[in-house]
Amino acid sequence: MSSFDVVIIGSGPGGYVSAIRCAQLGFKTAIIEKYSNLGGTCLNVGCIPSKALLSSSHHYAEIKHFADHGIEVSGEVKVNLEKMIARKKAVVDQTSGGINYLMDKNKITVFNGLGSFVDATHVAIAKEDGTTETIEGKNIIIATGSKPSSLPFIKIDKERIITSTEALALKEVPKHLVIIGGGVIGIELGQVYLRLGAQVSVVEFMDRIIPGMDSSLSKELTKVLKKQGMKFYVSHKVQSVERNGDAVTVQAENAKGETITLEGDYALVSVGRRPYTDGLNADKAGVKISDRGQVEVNDHLQTSASNIYAIGDVVRGAMLAHKAEEEGTMVAEIIAGQKPHIDYNLIPGVVYTWPEVAAVGQTEEQLKASGVEYKVGSFPFKALGRARASGDLDGFVKILADAKTDEVLGVHMIGARTVDLIAEAVTAMEFKASAEDISRMSHAHPTFAEAIKEAALAATDNRALHV
Ligand SMILES: Cc1cc2nc3c(=O)[nH]c(=O)nc-3n(C[C@H](O)[C@H](O)[C@H](O)COP(=O)(O)OP(=O)(O)OC[C@H]3O[C@@H](n4cnc5c(N)ncnc54)[C@H](O)[C@@H]3O)c2cc1C
Repeated sequence: MSSFDVVIIGSGPGGYVSAIRCAQLGFKTAIIEKYSNLGGTCLNVGCIPSKALLSSSHHYAEIKHFADHGIEVSGEVKVNLEKMIARKKAVVDQTSGGINYLMDKNKITVFNGLGSFVDATHVAIAKEDGTTETIEGKNIIIATGSKPSSLPFIKIDKERIITSTEALALKEVPKHLVIIGGGVIGIELGQVYLRLGAQVSVVEFMDRIIPGMDSSLSKELTKVLKKQGMKFYVSHKVQSVERNGDAVTVQAENAKGETITLEGDYALVSVGRRPYTDGLNADKAGVKISDRGQVEVNDHLQTSASNIYAIGDVVRGAMLAHKAEEEGTMVAEIIAGQKPHIDYNLIPGVVYTWPEVAAVGQTEEQLKASGVEYKVGSFPFKALGRARASGDLDGFVKILADAKTDEVLGVHMIGARTVDLIAEAVTAMEFKASAEDISRMSHAHPTFAEAIKEAALAATDNRALHV
């Protein structure tokens, strides 16, 4: 029987990053993946394919603005969805191949098959050819991720009533895509098909889309997406989703008890994701699963079995690839006897619509609820030279700083390239920067990043320069 210092179950961004860090620390490491492609949800049916389609559809949407830039396109510009989806697949396959390379390079043994606990130190791998191999791990890391969840009365048929996985590989542009759930995944995929010509309606139970983020971001994103043609039904509870041939009917009720009926040809159910532990036999290893289906962990990501850890979407916290990666690294270092730490307040949230949305730290709603006195510095993209040059005028940067100490408590942005700009805010907050610290740093001109400096100036003493 093969024996390893660390066995990792699941090869998503949590699992494969953890495997690399374990190998770097000198551990004999194995990783088990039930699918033939490594990379998990993120690489195969999540972050990477959705960003590939967002990029392709963004290029198409941009053509409408070419004339403003003095570019004349003659002849018809058409979408070839089959080719767009094929490009997405090529991006995914190439990236997954890159992970195989990284496993080889770091001498990590890869097992393909479903991993199930035999006991706290043994995992049986059920392979595609029907055979089973059992391996031993002194330490085991559960990184089995998540799957799309649904509502009890919705039957996902994967053809017309679909999840994000099917939405990433449609064979036609929907005429009317009804999206159930206005969270990040629904809004991103909604914008893809809106750009490609679909009518898109979003039904959201809460009173705003991207409800976990600062409400000013929801408001601005709603405004811009409405301008682009997306329709919103917020504060609406979906009551039924029925398929009839190629048609899908969605009924929802608002707070006043009024019912709306939306007739579409596809319904995308994006109401969140559930932790995935099917077939893992966690109980055989003494690993506790919570009522919500999450593997229970302590602050060191250790489960109820002391040599078994769990990371990523399968444990509490934000379901984000970079959160899973940080946890993968942290667990490897804990096993090596180090004392790593993750500040979960500083895990940024990102939405890859255009304008992009990004945030880190506390929202205004959270600060109000906790009674912290804070000040606000805001700066609109339309006052920025770089934004004017490119024509990306929507959005703003908002910095929330402690009223007494000036420490930055939260940064919330919507606008061009904010998902990249948020790294500056994370760095500043990791080093406990004040708004004044940021305002005194030189930012290259003309850049979108200047909006951060201007917002910091606004937060410092209402000293923004260009408004
Ligand atoms: C459409 C979409 C877009 C997204 N976009 C973003 C984004 O832009 N940015 C971002 O940060 N996050 C994004 N996410 C979320 C991100 O994909 C997840 O947070 C991330 O993949 C979680 O990583 P993980 O390692 O915990 O699990 P996963 O990536 O889910 O990987 C788990 C792996 O474990 C395998 N597995 C499960 N059980 C077993 C078993 N018993 N034996 C063997 N293998 C097993 C699974 O097959 C899977 O490959 C997106 C998600 C979706 C669906």
